[in-house]
Amino acid sequence: MSDKAYVQLKNINKSYGSVQVSKDVNITVEEGRLVALLGPSGSGKTTILKILAGLEQPDSGDIYIGGRRVNDVKPSERGIGFVFQSYALFRYMTVAENIAFSLKIQKWDAKRIRDRVEELLELVDLKGLGDRYPRQLSGGQRQRVAFARAIAPQPKLLLLDEPFAAIDAKVRKELRSWLKELIREVGITSIFVTHDQDEATEVADDIIITNQGRVEQTGQPIQIYSDPVTPFVAQFLGENVTTPDFRKFKGFEEVQKGDFAIIRPEYINLYKLDETIQYTETSEFGTAEKVIFRGS
Ligand code: ADP
Ligand code: MG
Repeated sequence: MSDKAYVQLKNINKSYGSVQVSKDVNITVEEGRLVALLGPSGSGKTTILKILAGLEQPDSGDIYIGGRRVNDVKPSERGIGFVFQSYALFRYMTVAENIAFSLKIQKWDAKRIRDRVEELLELVDLKGLGDRYPRQLSGGQRQRVAFARAIAPQPKLLLLDEPFAAIDAKVRKELRSWLKELIREVGITSIFVTHDQDEATEVADDIIITNQGRVEQTGQPIQIYSDPVTPFVAQFLGENVTTPDFRKFKGFEEVQKGDFAIIRPEYINLYKLDETIQYTETSEFGTAEKVIFRGS
């Protein structure tokens, strides 16, 4: 293990029947980082979380958490908290009972549970709502309860699987920045799954890009965006067009390597005919046939 690594997956392989859903997955997460697993649906993100959590066994490979190999350690003993999109709150328990749930299982004494629940309600901005039932809360509030429940027993690692997916767009954005700040405040190493690139780039310190069971690239959001190492990553991030005939453009005639070019709009300048053109040697003349307004 490298020094600062808190979580490490080494050469993980996993198949369901004849379908291989993790292909030699290597992941390192440093202590205290907030990392996004970002990839299209079906690319194996949830499987990676489940393997870390001990809810699935890999066919081969090693799992290290906090320096300890945990392949044979039970889920409940891996020191992990979860917020899963589908891991809904218990409907017939109050907010406070939901948060206290795992503390009761761990046989904390009543006073200590009460104090911890109060502390968490305050932390997630739900002070005074402990006696409500989940149905009396908004979607965003419910996810905050799920978060409080997950971190109640002070896990060393938090896993979140598409935690914002079921929440409407505006609240989702608020909840994202809220979560980022809170995780920073609590200082807990966290890995969250998303298929939404905006969510990953806004929230995460580091991004791990998954595609068809493989890790394509790992790095800080800006590194991955500005220096994609595979065509998949280049196409997956940002707006872009893929151009097979790129050698027809001025300035690209001599480019030797490559089957196609992936072009991002921020590298294109548009000028009207009566404007002064800055880069004449790489400019093309053409007619805009259709213009669509897309906000900013
Ligand atoms: P993601 O979270 O990126 O959407 P998953 O890890 O859930 O991807 O799934 C990866 C692939 O594994 C998908 O093709 C999915 O259908 C398949 N898969 C996941 N869980 C099972 C299972 N229990 N049995 C069979 N196939 C599964
Ligand atoms: Mg998933």
